[in-house]
Amino acid sequence: MVTDIPYDGSDFYCELAIPHPERLDVVHDSARVLAFHHTRPYWAVHVVVVPTRHIGSLTSVSAADEADIRELLGVVQAIAKDVESEYGAAAVLTNLGAYQDSKHVHVHVHSGGRLA
Ligand SMILES: [Zn+2]
Repeated sequence: MVTDIPYDGSDFYCELAIPHPERLDVVHDSARVLAFHHTRPYWAVHVVVVPTRHIGSLTSVSAADEADIRELLGVVQAIAKDVESEYGAAAVLTNLGAYQDSKHVHVHVHSGGRLA
């Protein structure tokens, strides 16, 4: 179990998560994509998947990001498949605009009840 990592900036992923995966409960770590159990989970099962290269959000993705987003979606699919298989249900979510706390595209894969 990873303890909460204090952070109040605007890009937790570039500033803390991607440079320091050893501080995380990592599910997938490749050159283009990092996935880990959320450090402040909202749901009983809560994995977050991010590109290791900075991309602001789903709505700012461009053709130049294709390789990163293609691999990201493959990792999201594999993790969602595992969660669905193990728990019988999963949801995949990405926030935008004011709903997006960290301004680096990230996809939540979750299952189970809300923790907070
Ligand atoms: Zn970033």
